[in-house]
Amino acid sequence: MKYFFVLSLFALLLALAYWRARPYIAAARRFLGVFRDAQRLSSDYQATGAPRRPSRAGEKLARCAVCGTWLPASRALALRNSPDPYCSTVCLTAATDARATRRKSAP
Ligand SMILES: [Zn+2]
Repeated sequence: MKYFFVLSLFALLLALAYWRARPYIAAARRFLGVFRDAQRLSSDYQATGAPRRPSRAGEKLARCAVCGTWLPASRALALRNSPDPYCSTVCLTAATDARATRRKSAP
């Protein structure tokens, strides 16, 4: 009976810890998903020299304005005041940084 009590307490703690960590787990899973997509995109690119036809029919491809990676238009990131698509927040920030310095250096 004592074991049962300890076990249930342990299970409760575990559930609590999992509940607390849920946002982090979701974020980690999203991060891994992005990484996997990037890997797949680059392997597609290496295999054919051009992006493979998207599996979903009728989906347009967009080309990252910074690094030139092809990606489905639905996945592309875009700024509100710019039509250029970007593959990731890294490229998006690089573009905005370049823009900011250009604006700063302009007379
Ligand atoms: Zn990019």
